[in-house]
Amino acid sequence: MTNTNTQVLQLPPAIVVGDLAQLLGVTPIDVIKELMKNGVMATINQVVDFDTAAVVASDLGFTPEEQAPAAAAAPEPGAAEAVDTSRASLRITEEGALPRPPVVTVLGHVDHGKTTLLDAIRRANVVATEAGGITQHIGAYQATAPDGRLVTFIDTPGHEAFSQMRARGARITDVAIVVVAADDGVMQQTREAIDHVRAAGVPMVVALNKIDASNANPDRAKQQLMEIGLVPEEYGGDQIVVPTSALKGQGIDELLENVLVVAELQDLRANPDQNAVGVVIEAKTDRSRGVVATLLVQTGTLRQGDAIISGLAYGRVKAMTNARGERLRVAGPSTPVEVLGLNDVPSAGERFSVRPDEKTAHAEADTRRRAIDAGEEGQAKVTLETLFGEIHKGNVTDFNLVLKADVQGSIDPLVHTLEDLSVDEVRVKVVHASVGSVTESDVQLAAAARGVIIAFNTGAEQGAKRLADQEKVEIREYRIIYDIVEDVEKAVQGLLEPVFEERADGLVEVRQVFRVGRRNAIAGCYVRDGSVVRGARCRVRRKGQVIHDGQIDSLKRIDEDAREVAAGLECGIQVTNFDSFEEGDEIATYHMEQVR
Ligand code: GDP
Repeated sequence: MTNTNTQVLQLPPAIVVGDLAQLLGVTPIDVIKELMKNGVMATINQVVDFDTAAVVASDLGFTPEEQAPAAAAAPEPGAAEAVDTSRASLRITEEGALPRPPVVTVLGHVDHGKTTLLDAIRRANVVATEAGGITQHIGAYQATAPDGRLVTFIDTPGHEAFSQMRARGARITDVAIVVVAADDGVMQQTREAIDHVRAAGVPMVVALNKIDASNANPDRAKQQLMEIGLVPEEYGGDQIVVPTSALKGQGIDELLENVLVVAELQDLRANPDQNAVGVVIEAKTDRSRGVVATLLVQTGTLRQGDAIISGLAYGRVKAMTNARGERLRVAGPSTPVEVLGLNDVPSAGERFSVRPDEKTAHAEADTRRRAIDAGEEGQAKVTLETLFGEIHKGNVTDFNLVLKADVQGSIDPLVHTLEDLSVDEVRVKVVHASVGSVTESDVQLAAAARGVIIAFNTGAEQGAKRLADQEKVEIREYRIIYDIVEDVEKAVQGLLEPVFEERADGLVEVRQVFRVGRRNAIAGCYVRDGSVVRGARCRVRRKGQVIHDGQIDSLKRIDEDAREVAAGLECGIQVTNFDSFEEGDEIATYHMEQVR
């Protein structure tokens, strides 16, 4: 973080930590650390005020200035290139931030009509525009509401995709549509979807679908929604519920209108007058076109010819098309576009941003790769032991738990007991609780919420275990309620010590003893099992009794220093503070592994 910049930096009255990092040209972690130094705990998605942001900016060598209300008028198109585009986000102005379309994700139980609904919205849009229908699946599209306003839809329904993006740190959804079939009512995945959406803090609109079905029972479905805390407006609550028939194309306009109502409350704005920053929706390699990536522009404007970087991928935007197959030269906030020109396939959910030129983007991608190779990047696993620290580092705001149990009867009391363990600075929040084994969806939710999964009298599905490993999510299995409560209580107070277990590495036989001077002895050994590594912890045993506990001080293979010697080979070993080897002694090496 050496920065000798003395550039004047215009900052808005309030700014999201992630955006501030972008502005300063550093990583969000750097900003979070800098904030912590100044006693402010904030996460990447939190908003800080000008004064706070200014402290960080000054620490990094900038001269911060609060944006004057009548700041810069929008420059001519093309003028943006004239300024230092490496810090091109410097000109965020309040007036520059214009309303943008909401970005919507559709979630709900399987077969309740998510795909049909997305199709119906697409079809309705064909009629509404003359430019032609949506011809391609690019992972996202824009629809037009009856009043002409646009709504951006993410075309991958389901909460797995939703949370997968969130687990990568991307918050893309402004409004969630939860589809509930009127004939089937609230089901397991409906509850899951709602928990995912609630955990993300995203407002939702319920589409009560299949109202055309002969066995539709909208009242029962509404009753069930109330039971999980979503009280429809007609019953005096504030949950918008729109009856739809995706199959017959009914209620689509009302749904779009209501999405816009909910979006309006959020006053969604973005400044088109800066370089684009956004998220990768999906990406693949196409045999004839190379890497094809659908990008959602979140702020700024993406232009054909821009140099971009996303994770380790970089390149120049060669061509952009929308879901109607139209070529675009520019794409503003909330616009999804399919982009050609990246050198590699970026991950869905990865952020992208613009660089002054391709060379800069290339160099930065190289730096990122080196950082990853050096093990400096990547999220650490959140465990019950580390959650407390994560909260205090500002990486996590709540003590998030996903609870699974064998029977419903255990769930309610457990949720209450656990949430009651909240203390002043740490709130225990059960983001999802349900009956059954741990599923991939649970893991995704825990990953997105940076939380831990508690499995009471139940196990985890194979796929879920694999995903948990990959996403670095801890699944803790318990048989006794008291143990859960005790562990969570200790964890909340930062008292839970990690538990280590010993793991055997190598077993060595002493076959000969060489004296070196009066005090030193080298054991001439044969490695019987595993391998011996220099510096490893070890125990010397004689006739089954441990006679010394130390470390492998020196390790030699045929007079050469060795780092590791494998089974079946001979070697010379010296052990710290021990010189009375005898033939027939055994040296067992081991390491400690954190098991909890
Ligand atoms: P998804 O799994 O949530 O994406 O559900 P689909 O969109 O694949 O729909 C599942 C089934 O429900 C399909 O056979 C659809 O034709 C049917 N379906 C979807 N919407 C409606 C609707 O509004 N009314 C009726 N009657 N059937 C619907």
